[in-house]
Amino acid sequence: MQSSAQQPSLFTPEDLPEVSTPWEIVDSEDQLYAEVVFNLPMLKSYHYLVPSGLRDNIRPGSRVRVPFGTGQKLTQGYCVSLTRTRPAHRNFKSIESLLDVAPLVDAAMLRLTRWISEEYLCSWGQVLDSVIPAGVKSKAGTRELLHFELAEGYETRLTTLKLSATQQRIVDVLRSTTEPMAGDELTSLAECGLSPLQTLRNKGIVVSTKIRTWSKSVSSAGENDTSAILLNRNQHSAVTRVIESLASGKSETFLLYGVTGSGKTEVYIRVIEEVVRYGRQAIVLVPEISLTPQTIRRFRKRFASVAVLHSHLSDAERHSYWQQIARGQVQVIVGARSAIFAPAPNLGLVVIDEEHETSFKQDSTPRYHAREVARQRVRDAGIPLILGSATPTLETWLRGIRKEEIVLSLPYRVAQRPLPPVMIVDTRNDQSLQKGASLGRAMLVAMRESLAKKGQIILFLNVRGYSPALFCRACGQSVRCPDCDVTLTYHKQRQIALCHSCEYSIDPPTSCPNCGKPGLLFLGQGTERLEHEVKARFPGVSVLRMDSDTMQQKGSHDRALESFRQGEVRILLGTQMIAKGLDFPNVTLVGVIDADTSLHQPDFRASERTFQLIAQVAGRTGRGELGGKVLVQTACPDQPAILYAARHDYAAFARQELEHRHTLGYPPFVRILRIILRGEIEADVEKAAERIRLGMESKGLERGGMLAKILGPAPCPVARLKKYFRYQLQISHPSGEVLGQLWRDVEPVAPELVPVEISVDLDPISFR
Ligand code: ADP
Ligand code: ZN
Repeated sequence: MQSSAQQPSLFTPEDLPEVSTPWEIVDSEDQLYAEVVFNLPMLKSYHYLVPSGLRDNIRPGSRVRVPFGTGQKLTQGYCVSLTRTRPAHRNFKSIESLLDVAPLVDAAMLRLTRWISEEYLCSWGQVLDSVIPAGVKSKAGTRELLHFELAEGYETRLTTLKLSATQQRIVDVLRSTTEPMAGDELTSLAECGLSPLQTLRNKGIVVSTKIRTWSKSVSSAGENDTSAILLNRNQHSAVTRVIESLASGKSETFLLYGVTGSGKTEVYIRVIEEVVRYGRQAIVLVPEISLTPQTIRRFRKRFASVAVLHSHLSDAERHSYWQQIARGQVQVIVGARSAIFAPAPNLGLVVIDEEHETSFKQDSTPRYHAREVARQRVRDAGIPLILGSATPTLETWLRGIRKEEIVLSLPYRVAQRPLPPVMIVDTRNDQSLQKGASLGRAMLVAMRESLAKKGQIILFLNVRGYSPALFCRACGQSVRCPDCDVTLTYHKQRQIALCHSCEYSIDPPTSCPNCGKPGLLFLGQGTERLEHEVKARFPGVSVLRMDSDTMQQKGSHDRALESFRQGEVRILLGTQMIAKGLDFPNVTLVGVIDADTSLHQPDFRASERTFQLIAQVAGRTGRGELGGKVLVQTACPDQPAILYAARHDYAAFARQELEHRHTLGYPPFVRILRIILRGEIEADVEKAAERIRLGMESKGLERGGMLAKILGPAPCPVARLKKYFRYQLQISHPSGEVLGQLWRDVEPVAPELVPVEISVDLDPISFR
């Protein structure tokens, strides 16, 4: 135990610098070359000479510092391969230094990141840089301290030297140990300062090495509880089937299609128990908002070592987990999207819960989808993947239909609990709703009934703020953000009109900024307005609003859910934050305030999202003895998404929606590459987009026997964002590889289009 490690130490390498010797240049016959990639948007890699002093330690996956670009500035890069064959190149620069003692990524991770860069059309270096957490790169929570030991042959040298008493004490202390000793420990044991140590080193009696140690230990232990649930028949056959696959060493993907509350998590846990029994590790991906204490507890109870990777971890905690995982000390890794990159050395299984969640797709470079990365990772490792959902994406469902992947069904809720009845409320004939209220007659009746029977209520409205538009009756305009093509949302509590795209805000105007006439209307409802209405309608009943405005503080989310669980709060209302994963037996009513918000999005997945939303919120009720029901307010009661959701009929919805997508040539029958261009001068952006299109056309759109279709250039639905004008092209073709070729064909013109910036998004899920 190194007690002094927490205090500032004198023994950092900087405090006691060594004179550096330049690397020797060796015979060119025997050279080693490293291929290096950078965190820059260029697809090329570069070769560097490996100096002899680094040869023993450099590995593919090592971070290096090399001279690069104009001015040959020292730049960080990643060594991705080593070769003795001289690459076709003339002047080789040398690697300046190695940044890590051991490589941060192994061979499998190198293959995976390379695949991502090819699939998602960005550079290998960008991917590597993004999958390694910042805390791991900075070695957060550790520091490098000098350790000392006696030099080889020191005894001979001692015979010709006369040591001071202090120096002698140092030598004696070092003689008593075989390991290098930390500087602090040594000086305290030998009761000496820095300078006698320095002298001994100069005389070649003592040598120093840099050793990295943890500043403080970061770890967590499991709770362990093996109270077993008896699996029902469907759960049992699902578990058995995946375990068979585990044993086969094949890489099979399973869609665990189970209604909400059917016991999917229990299936994951049973399979993971089997994986752990063989000394292997499992990764479980869940949406960030499902990383509640409730979920975490379920895993901690059943496994001895669980790492939970959520966004609130400090860099030091993340680094510590990474190291523990890499050493194989963690059995189960539970985390959001990026946990798919956990460096488990002997991975046995990947699970993705709520496979349909959009948060598994990253919306900045590299724009990967964790589910697709998982499919690739398990293929490479020869292990199974479980995708769980009550409302699978049509992409995954189609693979099931085509028998490319295996569907395992859990059609019933556990303990014979029925799915709750879903009532559709047509808002078009409700007078009270016409006047700007959010709660229609039927909703009010159901709420009163539920409260009278001591039940709890969840109300869902996916718009935050008080009202999403400030509308001028005189000129027919809404108040807009000066930098974005969106209306400002009125936030009553904060007394601002806020842009939800760029956070621009102003004092709420009292008159129209366009025409100057007074009297702006608050158009539409947000959660804040709903909260006012509920409180006015149900005085004395405790109401809690959950959205990103009220849940800013760390831990507030957990506290809010806890007070709801305890029954201190009777009505919980909020945005999608409350639509997912919550399991409260006393909830007897779920109200969807406005199903039309998601139905009217300019996105071919609007129907699918609406279906998912209703099915998911319906999953929040009827989980206990009291039963429950769902009310859905909509002005489009005949929409298939709403009708099928009310009947809990996913399969029928999927059949009809797939037919529709097939007719229109949408995914999952084709894949889409979305190219987004942005710049400050609209004409330039449009011209750049036009050039990309022409470039593709001139290279030929007929590929693989099919014609690639190009939509656009056209302004994006949000045509202006943070002062930038935005244009898009949407290219579709059944093959992702063809889409990749098309982009690579035109990509070389990108530098000529600067300052217009281009980003490419394969399989986009946002079309803003
Ligand atoms: P899902 O993930 O499909 O929504 P969960 O796995 O969360 O469902 O299960 C819902 C609840 O049912 C949990 O409290 C779980 O402990 C319980 N449960 C799971 N399987 C069984 C079973 N076979 N018998 C009784 N209860 C079960
Ligand atoms: Zn804005």
